[in-house]
Amino acid sequence: MSELLNFNYPPEPAVDRVTLFADVILPLPLPKLYTYRIPFEMNDEVLVGARVIVQFGAKRVLSCIVADIHENAPADYQAKYIMDVLDDKPIVTAPQLRLFRWIADYYMCTIGEVINAALPSALKLSSESRIQLHPHFNPEEDDIPLAAQEAKIIYALEQNPALTFTEVGNLLQVKSYHKYIKSLIQKEAIIIFEQVSDRFSPKVVKKIRLTEHFVQEEGMLEELFNQLAAKPKQLDILLNYLQKVPVHQNIHLNAAGIEKSVLANNPHLSKSSIDSLIKKGVFEQFDQIISRFPVDNTVPLQPMKLSEHQEQAKDEILGLFKEKDTVLLHGVTGSGKTEVYIDLIKHALEAGGQVLYLLPEIALTAQIVTRLMKVFGDKLGIYHSKFSDNERAEVWQGVLSGRFQMVVGVRSAVFLPFHNLSLIIVDEEHEPSYKQYDPAPRYNARETALMMAHLQGAKTLLGSATPSIETYYNCKTGRWGLVNMHKRFGDAQLPDIELINVREEQQRKNMHSHFSGRLVTAIEERLARHEQVILFQNRRGYAPFISCDECSWIPKCQHCAVSLSYHKYNNELRCHYCGYHERMPHDCPACGATTLRSMGFGTEKVEDDLKLMLPNAEVQRMDLDTTKKKNSYQQIIADFESGKTNVLIGTQMVTKGLDFENVSLVGILNADSIIHFPDFRAHERAYQLFVQVSGRAGRKGKPGTVLIQTRDPLQPIFRKVHSNDYTSLYEHEIEERMRFGYPPFTRMIRITVKHPDEKVSENAAIVLAKDLTDQLGSQLVLGPEVPYIFKIRNLFLNEIHVKLPRENVNLRAAKQAIAKVIQQLYLLPDFKGVRVVADVDPA
Ligand code: ADP
Ligand code: ZN
Ligand code: ZN
Repeated sequence: MSELLNFNYPPEPAVDRVTLFADVILPLPLPKLYTYRIPFEMNDEVLVGARVIVQFGAKRVLSCIVADIHENAPADYQAKYIMDVLDDKPIVTAPQLRLFRWIADYYMCTIGEVINAALPSALKLSSESRIQLHPHFNPEEDDIPLAAQEAKIIYALEQNPALTFTEVGNLLQVKSYHKYIKSLIQKEAIIIFEQVSDRFSPKVVKKIRLTEHFVQEEGMLEELFNQLAAKPKQLDILLNYLQKVPVHQNIHLNAAGIEKSVLANNPHLSKSSIDSLIKKGVFEQFDQIISRFPVDNTVPLQPMKLSEHQEQAKDEILGLFKEKDTVLLHGVTGSGKTEVYIDLIKHALEAGGQVLYLLPEIALTAQIVTRLMKVFGDKLGIYHSKFSDNERAEVWQGVLSGRFQMVVGVRSAVFLPFHNLSLIIVDEEHEPSYKQYDPAPRYNARETALMMAHLQGAKTLLGSATPSIETYYNCKTGRWGLVNMHKRFGDAQLPDIELINVREEQQRKNMHSHFSGRLVTAIEERLARHEQVILFQNRRGYAPFISCDECSWIPKCQHCAVSLSYHKYNNELRCHYCGYHERMPHDCPACGATTLRSMGFGTEKVEDDLKLMLPNAEVQRMDLDTTKKKNSYQQIIADFESGKTNVLIGTQMVTKGLDFENVSLVGILNADSIIHFPDFRAHERAYQLFVQVSGRAGRKGKPGTVLIQTRDPLQPIFRKVHSNDYTSLYEHEIEERMRFGYPPFTRMIRITVKHPDEKVSENAAIVLAKDLTDQLGSQLVLGPEVPYIFKIRNLFLNEIHVKLPRENVNLRAAKQAIAKVIQQLYLLPDFKGVRVVADVDPA
């Protein structure tokens, strides 16, 4: 079989033609690029960055990207021929290929995995088993004896380049047709291959217009009116059409016609009469390919006039860009960073460069996207995690063709085919969601953007009110530029922050469920003044776990080492790690008592409690559970913006980028769960969260208040949040990082060992840690240790941390050594089925 498939050797080469080879990136996790031979007739057609079709292994036909073209035959295998060329222009640019190589190297994955993540599925290819004529088979000349059914198949294949098995079955009208296929393969008349077909399908609308001669020929229109005089319904349609498309004034308008649905959906017109007119030949129907991103014809709004502070910040940034490639804009919440970005973008676009604007989560920052669309109109492409594949493919093509000179997008937008970038903006640069956790490539979009800028000679502006410690360190050491905006835009003040001691409130019997009396009163006051409130609670669901009062039983996930969260709205217990769920039991499965009680609280309970306490308030909740549908997020935001909702309750989603002028109170219900997170970044993250969510209050005119409920008000972090003292946070953190050898003083690689058997996982981790220590030395290797959540999706986890110093270490060599040690572990028979994941710079 496999020999049969090694088919496509073209005729012997003519002497004067160069033999060329192409290295291709297959969309598979292979360690190396494969080399294929280019058939002479395709020498001019195969291009670096374009897709070609190759056979891989015995049976697979795949599309892949050409990474390089050269004259060197591979030393250790006979190169197969490229089967076909898909693109006549590259779809991946040269700087992109360099970037993809860097990602694969730096984040310890294969370039196939990078390509897989980068290309929208619509630009990859789908495959389905099909048969086609054997390339060496010539039905005219080869006189192989064929049975009648076989001849039928061959005849059909002469008309169609390929047939699916089902099509063969239909053709022969028999159930058992496989024997004919098999026989034809043996006779070398046909081959099987995986049909590859382009899946990108443009969006089409049905339109109608008047048939040409009614418009072109003098008097035909009047004639038509006379004809239809006795058919009032049809006459109505004609009149309606002419009203929308006044061809009697300008005959050229007819060509574009009108969408059929415009007439068909008009309740005053008869649908069947439209069809009669089409049948009669008065109207003709045609398809038009339209864009998924309708061109916004609204005239772009001019950017706002920058304030003095903004103007100054902009000048400083431009000044620093003369010497440095990267600048951080550290501006407090509400300082008006967005308008500074817009001004810089405008200049970059006018100078002809491309611009990329990265955001952590587009859905969470719809307000900014709307603002950008107003200024930049149809030059702006949007790249979004909730987009369909075809929509993503359209943005990809739009960047290639130059239709989108600028893109605003989430982390995966760093994969887009830019070739002439002049500015990258990384908004909210501190956001952990810039890091991809799973699957590979486990890249950080901020770091990738910096490399991308480097490769294309672009400048990068990072922006944040709460910069990451690593970024600020780079500024402090002079590698990057730093520009500050200390004041909010206009006269707006930063909010007042007040701590509420939950322990004391409990003693005074002043807690109403999870609300302190102070918080409830504050909410009531704002509602009475028609102002709005945002409440933040770090967990979704009703309760993070339930427990039996009688026997202390706690339901756990069957597949993960975590307790199940209780979701009241559907009366379910659910695992937030694997999605496992079951009905909430009525009584305790362990002891039978009816004393199951929910412990702790999530956003759903906050919502429930508040609705009981303040029945007249309009309350909405924004978390993963309420924003699953494509536009549900926009709806919640719109309702809050219009004042329909008074109180918005949410998880981290409410902390980011929201800009509502009427919010005068922000409540943080349980600050402690955020501070006491077991991670060296816990304090940094807590500070960022508190400051960001506080930043939603008092953004315009009205003074804002933030109430933080905690059992431990003396925590030093609160003082820093209270005085908005980033510098003191930074100084404390950087000292700790230095003392314990954490980033930015080292680079971390987290290596996770996974196996369904606890013991195997543990042993493999021990062996791996020892081998790593042998290679890198004992100071650099920590662990193995069992992580806090030690089982996820039935796999037992063990972790090893490698800490590579910044200085005097060849990072590349170290990573290669680690990769090699992992490969060797895979070969040991004891550790069959062990999976090892390396995560570089884990978030
Ligand atoms: P940040 O991103 O720094 O938190 P924003 O960019 O959201 O702040 O700006 C805060 C508010 O100030 C927004 O409502 C914005 O529309 C307004 N604003 C900023 N700059 C200007 C300007 N130059 N003219 C008018 N309004 C502005
Ligand atoms: Zn019990
Ligand atoms: Zn689970």
